[in-house]
Amino acid sequence: MMLRKKTTPYISVVVPVYNEEESINELFDRLFGTLNSTGKSYEIIFVNDGSKDRSTQILADIFHKHKDVVRVIEFNNNYGQYIAIFAGFEHVRGQVIVTLDADLQNPPEDISKLLVKFDEGYDLVGGYREHRQDSFYRTYVSKFVNGMRDKLTGLHMRDHGCMLRAYSRNIVDQVIKTREAFTFITAMAQKFSKNPIDIPVRHSKRKRGASKYNPYKLIRIGFDLLTGFSLIPLQMFTLIGALTSLFSGTLVVYLVIRRIFIGPEVEGVFTLFALLFFMMSVLITGIGLIGEYVGRAYLSLCNHPRYVIKKIIEK
Ligand code: UDP
Ligand code: MG
Repeated sequence: MMLRKKTTPYISVVVPVYNEEESINELFDRLFGTLNSTGKSYEIIFVNDGSKDRSTQILADIFHKHKDVVRVIEFNNNYGQYIAIFAGFEHVRGQVIVTLDADLQNPPEDISKLLVKFDEGYDLVGGYREHRQDSFYRTYVSKFVNGMRDKLTGLHMRDHGCMLRAYSRNIVDQVIKTREAFTFITAMAQKFSKNPIDIPVRHSKRKRGASKYNPYKLIRIGFDLLTGFSLIPLQMFTLIGALTSLFSGTLVVYLVIRRIFIGPEVEGVFTLFALLFFMMSVLITGIGLIGEYVGRAYLSLCNHPRYVIKKIIEK
């Protein structure tokens, strides 16, 4: 009996999809064209992150037309872009793994630019959005978080939010071995890379549909990034605590001496209130911060599955 050899493509493209019915067809056509022009073998893995619109049907249609190169992983629910990419990573068969958003803000054609760098010997090629076409608010908050991440985690990359990236299979294998409850893929990959490079990629406004990120999801992702990679935020808090107790200790000594020699002081009640409230808010922030770490530890201890797959459509 002859065993049929499992085909191993050279490139695997992973595309997370959440309610992108307006974009998927154009995305697929352009991606298909670009990948064919590389002359290399490839597969496209769509991860349907619990879409509630026609995306599911459209993806099934695309699969039926291109069974040789398309695979669809369907989640039972919405788990978020990073988890979707993670699931894609766990299923790739290629040697070079490319991630790309479904909304066409980054043109699929730029994949060839990533591949050129890959051939030059880099094992991680990150795109950065040269003229980012998002709202003022999104762009600047993201700049700020990028800056904080740079300082706090010591991971240097231009734009961790840009998903047009190429990874070596080796890095992807390392990423899927991690057991954190939430894996911040771009930063994690940077940590595992031996020879990374950032290159500019194009970015345009969303032509169709709206961003799938609401302010809550964005804040969550910022927290995940800052607390997922280092204990520096916690240590900074201890430092603030030490400094303020030093300061308040001195104040107590001063007040005791003053009471003995001058008498009790009654003024400045509101200053006291202000100080107290300030300290209380610092305290609550600290508790929240500890909660972030404890929650993360708890989730990974319990070994919760990151996602549940409803079905996989592949040949
Ligand atoms: N996405 C996803 N699950 C989500 C949110 C987004 O799979 O819960 C996908 C989405 O379909 C798109 C990509 O992640 O392919 C980036 O999302 P979006 O364009 O909304 O993010 P933005 O460009 O606003 O950062
Ligand atoms: Mg987008």
